[in-house]
Amino acid sequence: MEIVKNEYCNECKSYTHLIVTSFNSDSIFAKCPLCSAEFDLIYDEGRISQLVEHKEIIYTAVNDPDFGESKQKVVILAGNILIDLSGDSWVFRVVHKSFTNYVDLDDCSRFELIDFDANVDFEWLAKASFLEVVRRFAK
Ligand SMILES: [Zn+2]
Repeated sequence: MEIVKNEYCNECKSYTHLIVTSFNSDSIFAKCPLCSAEFDLIYDEGRISQLVEHKEIIYTAVNDPDFGESKQKVVILAGNILIDLSGDSWVFRVVHKSFTNYVDLDDCSRFELIDFDANVDFEWLAKASFLEVVRRFAK
């Protein structure tokens, strides 16, 4: 699934990604995942990205110079939610500024799931509601 990252939906007044429904050389047609409002955006190939990306990023901590740099394989959902897949716990980080390869940990909000080592379809996870996630992973 393709998305346009970091958009503002002026129907439901939310910062979100938009889901690309189609595009041509002039326009990207996309809809809000929260309220289904439809948008006709100016076409720019660089605006389109994948809902789920696998990437190696480098964590830094600007406020903690001793931290240095830490390379980590992550899954990126909807442009700015990083999932560290290490061990039995998954750390989700919401990045609040735009980034390419370097992510400042001091600029992220954190959410952690313990005992969450199941095989997961990330496309499903990116679109699932919280209740669907609870039902799927409750043991
Ligand atoms: Zn909306």
